[in-house]
Amino acid sequence: MKQLFTFVALAVAALASHASDYPSKPISIIVPFSAGGPTDRVARDLAEAMRKPMGGVSIVVDNVAGAGSSIGSAKAARATPDGYTVLLNHIGMATMPTLVRNLPFKVDSDFEYLGMINEVPMTLVTKPSMPANNYKELVTWIGQNKSSINLGNAGVGSASHLCGLLLQSALQTDMTTVPYKGAAPAITDLIGGQIDLMCDQTTNTTSQIEAKKVKAFAVTTSKRLTTPSLKDLPTLQESGLKGFEVTIWHGLYAPKGTPPEILAKLNSALKTALKDPDFIKKQEGLGAVVVADKRMEPAEHKKFVLAEIAKWSPIIKAAGVYAD
Ligand code: ASP
Repeated sequence: MKQLFTFVALAVAALASHASDYPSKPISIIVPFSAGGPTDRVARDLAEAMRKPMGGVSIVVDNVAGAGSSIGSAKAARATPDGYTVLLNHIGMATMPTLVRNLPFKVDSDFEYLGMINEVPMTLVTKPSMPANNYKELVTWIGQNKSSINLGNAGVGSASHLCGLLLQSALQTDMTTVPYKGAAPAITDLIGGQIDLMCDQTTNTTSQIEAKKVKAFAVTTSKRLTTPSLKDLPTLQESGLKGFEVTIWHGLYAPKGTPPEILAKLNSALKTALKDPDFIKKQEGLGAVVVADKRMEPAEHKKFVLAEIAKWSPIIKAAGVYAD
């Protein structure tokens, strides 16, 4: 027992001494989805914007994709809490505890909350050869093709998975779901026609919609969007899916036990990045809104995530949409 105390005391002392010269080596942001997708994109833009406020140290993105973000999130939860590994994840932090049985980490107690980053709408998009030309025709096509429809997603527990499950529940249809390790490979297959449709974030779809590589039918937010190429898309609510609303958000996390001085430095650099005009411009161009309110602060970020867990739990349970 005495040995254990000595070991813990030494480990705490080592972390404390690291805190004063932090950061002195590259920081890794774990993105629990594949490269080139929406979560990866926000992480790369954020890494660039945080580099200067973190004293010029390199911030590298580590894509640990799979299982709808559980694998990367669990890896981040178990990483050494020294500020050199952080996690960037999305709304899955709030939906996975209800959606996924046996989640390999605890959202409320395995992480230090560093602050929220942005909010992103989703779009309902299809392969370019989709015969339907508006939402009403799409619903008719879905009714005619049902289970032979391939609905893509970024893995069980991902945002696209959640949105797809809610869509099937609202339309009372069972499609064949096709999970990928991220939205990037999923949209590549959508463009190629290997899958028929998916819900995906505007940060991934806007350029593909503009290039007419996919067809867009609706947005998942309660209000229409203002981005020029997306402003004519109807909301799913106005199209008849009462109460349908999914807005994705991203936040930054550190493993539980990361020293407070290090957390303060990371939060301060995050807030500087969130006010960086270049970062804001890039995000807005993709339909995302950068967080500019109190949710930039760790305590408010955590409060928001816990409120989101409470919000989504009954919706997911009512839709009967669980995954193993
Ligand atoms: N955020 C995406 C989703 O959950 C996945 C990704 O970023 O690749 O659908």
